[in-house]
Amino acid sequence: GVHIAGLRKAYGDNEVLKGISLDVSPGEVVCLIGPSGSGKSTLLRCINLLEQPNDGIIEVGGYAVTDPDVDVDQMRRHVGMVFQQFNLFPHLTVLGNCTVSQVKVLKRPKAEAESIARAELESVGLGHLAHRYPGELSGGQQQRVAIARALSMNPSLMLFDEPTSALDPETVGDVLAIMRKLAQAGMTMVVVTHEMGFAKEVADKVVFMDGGVVVEQGPAAAVIGNPQEARTKDFLRRVL
Ligand code: ATP
Ligand code: MG
Repeated sequence: GVHIAGLRKAYGDNEVLKGISLDVSPGEVVCLIGPSGSGKSTLLRCINLLEQPNDGIIEVGGYAVTDPDVDVDQMRRHVGMVFQQFNLFPHLTVLGNCTVSQVKVLKRPKAEAESIARAELESVGLGHLAHRYPGELSGGQQQRVAIARALSMNPSLMLFDEPTSALDPETVGDVLAIMRKLAQAGMTMVVVTHEMGFAKEVADKVVFMDGGVVVEQGPAAAVIGNPQEARTKDFLRRVL
């Protein structure tokens, strides 16, 4: 799980996270929603130290990420991240994308890494594309490869930052279906999304952020179905 308390992050004098507290239990799916610029991506990026927090505590799997002596590489092995823009290595095949970090970071033998990668690619329905290059795939297929690549590292936590926002409408469903399956399999997930249908159906908890603070959080049915705060109501009126 994840434990965050009093998290602050500023860029210069622009404080974009103003004391965030958030808990994610093992196996829980948390959807982060909120307007553009509210700090959702910054929060995700602080969880795996792509951004250095200014203050507060972050623990992942009981491991104090914000401890000054933290082994960042060790911590990142347990955290998979999927971005809006896929971020695949264009010069590597699909199989290469899913094996390179297993070999380099986890020191797995190549044959073992390939067999794990193939299993993950099968599970996202892309076993037959293992030898293609990212540029030869649709956006939805590339995103499924990015998910398979992250899962090949056996993460205990998956972070998703608007994984379907760059996709053609007809491929959004495929990616959401894989995320739904992952959630049902018990993966701990933090998902920034504008897909309110997905949040309602899959999230154990929905967190609404605005202006660098958590305005409202709770079960999806409460936050999306029956919001209490004016800012949440306003936001939902615009996106639903
Ligand atoms: P969106 O829905 O548009 O993705 P967001 O909620 O993810 O928005 P963030 O990307 O976390 O918002 O940005 C929060 C604020 O921090 C914004 O005002 C943004 O301009 C600022 N910001 C983000 N990254 C940086 C950076 N590297 N340097 C300076 N300011 C930044
Ligand atoms: Mg963002």
